[in-house]
Amino acid sequence: MGRSPCDGRRTTVSSAESADVTSTGTILQGVGVSPGRAAGPTVHLAAGVDEPPLRRSPAAPEESVAALTAAAEAVAAELRTRAEGVTGTAREVLETTAQIATDPTLLKDARKRIESERVSPERALWEAAAAVAVQFEELGGYFAERVRDVHDVRDRIVANLTGVPTPGVPSRTEPFVLVAQDLAPADTAQLDPEVVLGLITAEGGPTSHTAILARSLGIPAVVGLGDATRRLVAEGVVVVDGGSGVVLLAPTPEEVARASERHEARTFSGRGATTDGHRVELLANVGEVAQAEPAAAAGAEGVGLFRTEFCFLDRDTEPSIEEQVEAYGTVLAAFGGRKVVIRTLDAGADKPMPFLNPTDEANPALGVRGFRTSWRSPQVLENQLTAIATAAAAHDARVWVMAPMVARVSEAEQFVAACARHGLETAGVMVEVPSAALLAGPILARAAFASIGTNDLTQYTLAADRLLGALAPLSTPWDPAVLSLIRTTCEGGQAQSRPVGVCGEAAADPAMAAVLVGLGVTSLSMTPRALGDVAALLAATSLEQCRRAATLALGTEDADAARLTARDALPALAELGL
Ligand code: PEP
Ligand code: MG
Repeated sequence: MGRSPCDGRRTTVSSAESADVTSTGTILQGVGVSPGRAAGPTVHLAAGVDEPPLRRSPAAPEESVAALTAAAEAVAAELRTRAEGVTGTAREVLETTAQIATDPTLLKDARKRIESERVSPERALWEAAAAVAVQFEELGGYFAERVRDVHDVRDRIVANLTGVPTPGVPSRTEPFVLVAQDLAPADTAQLDPEVVLGLITAEGGPTSHTAILARSLGIPAVVGLGDATRRLVAEGVVVVDGGSGVVLLAPTPEEVARASERHEARTFSGRGATTDGHRVELLANVGEVAQAEPAAAAGAEGVGLFRTEFCFLDRDTEPSIEEQVEAYGTVLAAFGGRKVVIRTLDAGADKPMPFLNPTDEANPALGVRGFRTSWRSPQVLENQLTAIATAAAAHDARVWVMAPMVARVSEAEQFVAACARHGLETAGVMVEVPSAALLAGPILARAAFASIGTNDLTQYTLAADRLLGALAPLSTPWDPAVLSLIRTTCEGGQAQSRPVGVCGEAAADPAMAAVLVGLGVTSLSMTPRALGDVAALLAATSLEQCRRAATLALGTEDADAARLTARDALPALAELGL
């Protein structure tokens, strides 16, 4: 079935073009960030609700109270119905939220405001919810964590009262393709791949955390569509191709059928090596704790990046040491006897954590994020290292620890010393900032290992915000400047006899994986879904071929040339259909 824009029926609209006409048979071109194809009706993510104005309501107080009670009951009923359809944590969360919707204190306070101040029910509820949130915050602990739920309930009841769509990811049982301006990592993490078949966003780049999560969930995703998302009418069927970045409007039944076929992924034997036996550890990136078991089942040799902040993205307050011990312990238990690289909280930029990050930064990606947060909140790092050491002592996984966003030699030194105080001997750093790559030699004279975060290293080398769809063409680790910094880092590692891994998304691209090995990278960590393809390519490629592909790519002047030249030098790619 042709999808060429030249087939006479189709027109192609790039993300840059504005589009206010709806036509059939149109191809929208965005940036494919999570491979795979899916077809389904589109559902738009509703925006959050606005604060209702403070003014006297013309309605009689009894009418307003009745409207409020009905709205609260409708929201609670809807949440209870959703709770019945799921199990485990999701069920608990929905049941708790349903309880808040009919909480007597909340509703009594709102009723009082209606009666005494004659405000609208939505305004009264807004104010009552604010008062409850303040009380919860003051109580701290479990209650402080419910503040987000109070706001969620408030928005749902206000939406019901004012007749606007309920904010957040729509709760439907029939599968759909989700369309959003942008999606926070915390929202993406909760998507159910059985229901959300595909993801389309106007914003976002290939290494945004939303894209990373979509990949780990196996949800095909296209980002950076810009204004073209306006062409996606509600419930209109589309085909999403998360590899090529194409969104097809009004597909034929055959195209829908083809996109809906599921393909079996290549499996992994559990030992990565080139065809001539050069060992390359193939590890998994793990975010939420629940991803650990499937990653182990996929044959990962260990965990190369455990993004601990993903466990606590929904928190307004620091998780307790006990909670942390439990979360880390679950991942360590899944990888008994194997290596697990735990990264300390990488809070900041698109993963803000209210207890760690300042809210008034103009450039949060260049702000107090990652390891830098420990300068202002040293105790949070201390507590996390205590939790990691406690979990490590209770399990037989080999625990390595690393800090994100290290920029200077002195920071590596500080982190290694902090880990040593907790008995954590294998302490390393992430190389995500060009300064760290350039100083890899002295940094690795202190740190036991380095792990290159190519997502941020690319962002900071090209000065291109990884969240900006408009800059997606710059967000590629194939840029020879990025490759050169990776080589410099590996040279620093070799000079100090220290391993240098890659745990950014680059490791999941088979061609890039071979180039990384050629540059001297010793381990590759990726979404477990990519392990089979990367392992297959390495198993069919010699170290010499990897080195040659790397040298050729380094000799080019731009990312496209680097990619094409390297691919030409890796014949196994075509043989394996990669
Ligand atoms: C990276 O920057 O490449 C990385 C692995 O860290 P994160 O994507 O979580 O920022
Ligand atoms: Mg990073």
